[in-house]
Amino acid sequence: MGKREYMLEEIEKLMFDPEVIRNIAIVAHVDHGKTTLSDNLIAGAGMISEETAGKQLVMDYDKIEQQRSMTIKAANISLAYNLEGKDYLINLIDTPGHVDFGGHVTRSMRAVDGVILVVDSVEGVMPQTETVLRQALKERAKPVLFINKIDRLINELKLNYEQMQEKLTKIINEVNKLIKANAPKEFVDDWLINVAKGNVAFGSAFNKWAISYPFSQRTGINFKTIYDYCSKKEHEKLREMAPSHEVIFEMVVKHLPNPKVAQKYRIPVIWHGDLNQSYAKDMLEMNKDAKVIAVVFGVVVDPHAGEVAVGRVFSGTVKKGVEVYVGNEPEKQKIQQVGIFMGRERKMVEEVPAGNIVALVGLKNIFVGETVAEEKIEPFEEIKHYSEPVVTKSIEAKDTRDLVKLVEALKKMAKEDPTLRVEINQETGEHLVSGMGELHLEIVETKLKDDYKIDIIAGAPIVVYRETIEGSAGPVEGKTPNRHSKFYVTVEPLEKGVMEKIDSGEIEEGKPKGKKIVELLVEGGMPRDDAKNVVYIKNKCVLIDATRGVQYMNEVMESLIEGFKEAVDDGPLAREKCLGIKVKIVDALIHEDPVHRGPAQVIPAIKRATYAAMLYANTILLEPKQKITIQVPEKYLNDVVSILQGRRGEILSINQEGELVTIVVKAPVAEMLKGFSDQIRGITQGRAIWYYEYAGYEKLPKDLMQKVVESIRERKGVPKEPPKPEDFLEK
Ligand code: GDP
Repeated sequence: MGKREYMLEEIEKLMFDPEVIRNIAIVAHVDHGKTTLSDNLIAGAGMISEETAGKQLVMDYDKIEQQRSMTIKAANISLAYNLEGKDYLINLIDTPGHVDFGGHVTRSMRAVDGVILVVDSVEGVMPQTETVLRQALKERAKPVLFINKIDRLINELKLNYEQMQEKLTKIINEVNKLIKANAPKEFVDDWLINVAKGNVAFGSAFNKWAISYPFSQRTGINFKTIYDYCSKKEHEKLREMAPSHEVIFEMVVKHLPNPKVAQKYRIPVIWHGDLNQSYAKDMLEMNKDAKVIAVVFGVVVDPHAGEVAVGRVFSGTVKKGVEVYVGNEPEKQKIQQVGIFMGRERKMVEEVPAGNIVALVGLKNIFVGETVAEEKIEPFEEIKHYSEPVVTKSIEAKDTRDLVKLVEALKKMAKEDPTLRVEINQETGEHLVSGMGELHLEIVETKLKDDYKIDIIAGAPIVVYRETIEGSAGPVEGKTPNRHSKFYVTVEPLEKGVMEKIDSGEIEEGKPKGKKIVELLVEGGMPRDDAKNVVYIKNKCVLIDATRGVQYMNEVMESLIEGFKEAVDDGPLAREKCLGIKVKIVDALIHEDPVHRGPAQVIPAIKRATYAAMLYANTILLEPKQKITIQVPEKYLNDVVSILQGRRGEILSINQEGELVTIVVKAPVAEMLKGFSDQIRGITQGRAIWYYEYAGYEKLPKDLMQKVVESIRERKGVPKEPPKPEDFLEK
């Protein structure tokens, strides 16, 4: 059983037998042991030598990741393993462990059919455990559970047998609560974690041993054995008796579905096209002889091959030379090389059939989340991110000769990580890079310096605000510069329910497509009359054409939409993006001559009317918030709480377990930039652990508003004093 050397050819053979394939990811809260467990599995599968596994951290192949000892890039590795005389092929997709990079996690979920959820037995279920499990369940990836760091329960916390039992039961119950709440109904019973079923294992990834109920039944090695050996620190012996890879691989093979089984129920959820199409049936049945359909979940930049797209093949067999459409591009492109990943290495292979993970070389303009298909098909649903970039930094090359290199590098990084946004400030020419938090941007800087060898100057981190309105206003008249046409506009806050549906991805931004969107808007609380007339959605703002029988309205609609887009991208108060505004055109008078109603006339008219109405409705700023979870020894509790309160933090909960206290707080991103890390490290002598999650936008307190608005305007080089509604009205 278990470890032996596999040749590439053997793996290629396994790729053609769906029953022996498992596409999985390991997901966990940061530091719960995901990387260590990956290394156990990699070592156990015989791909790298066992002794070096702990040090080598194969999955963390970016140098920077090793320095920060966290994983930031999704990579895949194909492993072979022999269980009960049968060879299995396990494609292990790496997912990042830090909440800052949540987008990566979601994308990886699409490629896998199952996950190993790792939970640290000491810390228990943490906020990010919940997030990743929810994401997995949403994409219908089935979970199994590995409760890690059992050695610490025994040797550090010195729990007795009953206490340990209690602790582990609590974790299983909490995980099950999440499964019940988030798994598809028809699967809940099958997916619930149950010791006797064998879909949970307990062990120490660091010491490389583990047990599960079926394993105990078979071998007689039980919790008592673990307890005895572990407390004597005889980890070597335990490892020989109960190697973690054996227990985990058995759990994976027996409890996680093979791709053929999984695609049947996953395709209808992750792909929203017409299931009666023949190519839909090919995906449902995972037909390897059909036309190629794959979804890219990662783009890595390879120093030799350039951009390499990593994707899951849902139908057909990918071969060199096959021509495919990438996303919505009109022309087909040729696949130049086909490969699979084994740790650091990409190995070229002849072909990769449906159900597997493939590396594609030679495709241009490829982005994460994109569909690659031989026929034009309805693309896979756009991958939804759970957070928005809330911090921006300007980045410039120290040496202007590096400018082109910098632009290229930033482009590449934005491709590998769609949660990163790169914009060029048209006025100053500087590059503005936006990300999920300060750390996210620090990683970008380090990469530019170390990997791309570019000396850069980075500005101070800037918080990204949003503009919204407190009340309603209008109708306000907007005249075209030639005074021949007029538009009457009202504004009001957008319904909360509608915003939630945009956040969750149920309602897509852009021009409304299909009839279903009207129902979704109504469900979100919008009156039906409004919902029927929505013409565009952007930045969680909605443009509604509420006019009736106005002549030439259709002819100017594109310009109206353009003006609306410009207005909500660049709010009147501080030129920040808008959020949550319903802009309604209630009446219009349009000149009959097309010459007099072109874009140059209509765009400014609608834009100015929108601005004036917004300002009448009292435009305010919203600031991004983060939910921060901080764990500290009890004696630092008071100091930490007072730091947080000093930073406008709102304490959500304080929980004590043993001598550790967990504080959950919601705080403005702006307050977390000003040396928070150093302050908290200093005061707790480095004993605090914390992480943060995006927690949405909230109103900036009134007393700070003017100061913040002025400083943003100053930074953007516009007059400090914000405009008045009258400034946008024709005199
Ligand atoms: P990740 O952030 O989830 O990838 O976590 P890592 O695998 O990097 O592990 C985080 C830390 O926990 C590292 O210092 C590991 O050495 C340690 N660790 C992992 N597994 C165990 C375990 O079973 N027992 C103990 N005591 N420490 C562990």
